[in-house]
Amino acid sequence: MDNWILGVITFFVAMDFAIDTYVNFLNHRSSKKPVAPEIADLYDPAEQKRSVAYAAANYRVSLISSCISFILMILALTFNWFANLDDFVRSRFDSEIVISLVFIGVLALISNLISLPFGIYSTFKVEAEFGFNKSTPITFITDLVKGLALTVVIGGGLLTLVLWLYQELTATFWIWAWLLFAGFSLFIFMFATKIFLPLFNKLTPIEDGELKREISQYCDSQGYSLGKLFVMDGSKRSTKANAFFSGLGQSKTIVLFDTLIEKLSTREVVAVLAHEIGHYKRKHTLWMFLLSNMQSFILFALLGWLLSYPALSEALGASVSSFHISALAFFLLFSPVSTLIGLVNNALSRRNEYDADDFANETYDRQAIASALKKISTDSLANLSPHPLYVAVNYTHPPTLERLRNLSK
Ligand SMILES: [Zn+2]
Repeated sequence: MDNWILGVITFFVAMDFAIDTYVNFLNHRSSKKPVAPEIADLYDPAEQKRSVAYAAANYRVSLISSCISFILMILALTFNWFANLDDFVRSRFDSEIVISLVFIGVLALISNLISLPFGIYSTFKVEAEFGFNKSTPITFITDLVKGLALTVVIGGGLLTLVLWLYQELTATFWIWAWLLFAGFSLFIFMFATKIFLPLFNKLTPIEDGELKREISQYCDSQGYSLGKLFVMDGSKRSTKANAFFSGLGQSKTIVLFDTLIEKLSTREVVAVLAHEIGHYKRKHTLWMFLLSNMQSFILFALLGWLLSYPALSEALGASVSSFHISALAFFLLFSPVSTLIGLVNNALSRRNEYDADDFANETYDRQAIASALKKISTDSLANLSPHPLYVAVNYTHPPTLERLRNLSK
């Protein structure tokens, strides 16, 4: 019984790695192809070369990192490392909740330690070499420590509650665990920008001047309050320009990076703002929020059902059936479904981006949103000819060419 489940898990892990590696390779090859004639003038030959080199550098980092993760995962599955860790923790602690917390904590720590060198290399080597990095080692370490502290306090707190629910209720725990997650994700959706973002960045109201006048005028025309608009010091970490919308209802917030304001003309900044207001007006965040909670409902229901089978823990070689080992086996078995869900979510997100572009086009200025998109992509050395499969798997925003085509319809 245990062997076939482990076989399926190993097959899924290998398949996931093979598909991911192949799609990345296709995209790497595609990035070197000539750019479509409509956008061929976006880069001069030197910039085109730099963009290909940037894509290649990122490709190498992700290839090495995913190879290492894959090898470690196969070793862990083959040599029962998860069961060994469980035995080790079990020999030191008595409480089942503490055992689960320590087990998950150790795995999370190891996975963070494995990705850390890649994070450092990508920030201080790749991003720096192409002139994007603004992060100092101090900023990098502070971010790391703050992120870790938040994960321990919030992640650890939520996990403890879930483990306690499982211990007390077992069969029906998943409904309560889902309610807990839905409640928490509502809280994050509403207040992340207000509570957590200021821990990492400075948010300020927009400065007086021409830009503010133009923005006020547009916001007035759309009934959007200027009090819900902030400029963020994105330049603290990167030269790349960005903007985003977050929140629901009264907690709505639009954040413009200072780098966006610095690089774009007034009309282009307002066009980006119009795009973000489009996300709000067309209720994109609300629908994505509802969808993700529906997905997590199904996930929790399946988890609740399958956790009762000791075969899951046995598959990973554990002698004692436990929440953490069974849940780990469950998520590994679930990975093809996660991939499919990811494809659907990315497709919906890209559709929302077209919709928000349309909104900016209809309520403001087609030329301005088009030229803003061009500037933002060329400025970040975007790959102008990504492979369609890579786009389907990884892109939450459509490629530049498709967005420009959509705007000129
Ligand atoms: Zn958008």
